[in-house]
Amino acid sequence: MSTHGYKKKWRAGVLGATGMVGQRFVKLLADHPWFELTAVAASERSTGKTYAEAARWHLEDPVPEVARGLIVKDLDPSLDCDFVFSALDSSVAGEAEEVFARAGYPVVSNSRNHRMDPDVPLLIPEVNAAHVNCIPVQQRNRKYDSGFIVTNPNCSTAGLVLVLKPLADAFGLEKLFVVTLQAVSGAGYPGVPSMDALGNVIPFISGEEEKMEAEPQKLLGKWDGSRFIDAGLGISAHCNRVPVVDGHTECVSLRLKKTATIHEVREALRNFEVSEELASLPTAVKHPVVVLDQDDRPQPRKDANVGHGMAAVVGRVRECPLLDVKLTLLSHNLVRGAAGAALLNAELLAARGFLKSRQSEGAPAMEEVSR
Ligand code: NAP
Repeated sequence: MSTHGYKKKWRAGVLGATGMVGQRFVKLLADHPWFELTAVAASERSTGKTYAEAARWHLEDPVPEVARGLIVKDLDPSLDCDFVFSALDSSVAGEAEEVFARAGYPVVSNSRNHRMDPDVPLLIPEVNAAHVNCIPVQQRNRKYDSGFIVTNPNCSTAGLVLVLKPLADAFGLEKLFVVTLQAVSGAGYPGVPSMDALGNVIPFISGEEEKMEAEPQKLLGKWDGSRFIDAGLGISAHCNRVPVVDGHTECVSLRLKKTATIHEVREALRNFEVSEELASLPTAVKHPVVVLDQDDRPQPRKDANVGHGMAAVVGRVRECPLLDVKLTLLSHNLVRGAAGAALLNAELLAARGFLKSRQSEGAPAMEEVSR
């Protein structure tokens, strides 16, 4: 498929389409210029029902028309689509994603299971687009034909690493200390019981600190043609669940390798701009880090949707008496930290020729679209 001028839409399936992240996928795909939603799959609680019947819909807009009548399928790898997004519960994601990749489907996953596999890209296009070059190695290792697995990071890692990237490039990073204040939507549905969440802070999210300390190493590290080399950062993370609906806030202190003034740090963040290739992807924002100057920002209710939820919003950039710099950042956990992140990954894969048509009988006629 051409990446210039006119092209046909790729047909996308969503595994785990009925969940919190799955619903975001369905919403974002409803009106996507390159992808059309043609298949949804979930657990046996949902299979056989129409999507409108099966999904306990949590978003403000109604269930998109394109999804309402789709029949929810099980995890058999015979879905009518060219590739799948995975928003499956991690108890089933690991095996199901491998089954789909082996059956020839590119799998763009949001689940944790394969993120740290030595031959699977953990991808944030603005940070480490070159890691997609690992895909042919993965296909060779695993004897996959056209299928493969690509993942996006954990929701709290996504915003953090987006902010770290311009600082790593400009000054180098030595170590950091981060405290998170994470929204309840990050725990899926029904998630944290209301009696635990309301008027409260829970200073533990199972597995989260480990992910935040490991994933940035791979994301900010290098693919050397045969393996990933870690960034070698010192990271200490404290993760807390707070009674906020959407948007993870993170308070970060950093030690830089090179001396920099607060003004230089702020400017490096503000001037972070993506390449022309990335800027042309439909879900990308040209400046993925937005710096606010007001003392009392960012705030989840006011700033989680900046850049359609794809930006990391930074405020309170100031000197740190223990390390060098401290700041507060916010990112939308279900968009930048989940469905939007995977969508951007799929767009990069499409632009780089990794997605192919798997047209089958009974598939909807492909629509000519302009980019
Ligand atoms: P969720 O609301 O609990 O949804 C889970 C989905 O998995 C539902 O569609 C569910 O289908 C399906 N599922 C569960 N068991 C299944 C089975 N045995 N077979 C087939 N499908 C099954 O969870 P979520 O918050 O959307 O998270 C989905 C994934 O994304 C998880 O791996 C999570 O760790 C990851 N993630 C979440 C966030 C976030 O902010 N929420 C951020 C980053 C990553 P039914 O509806 O039919 O039960």
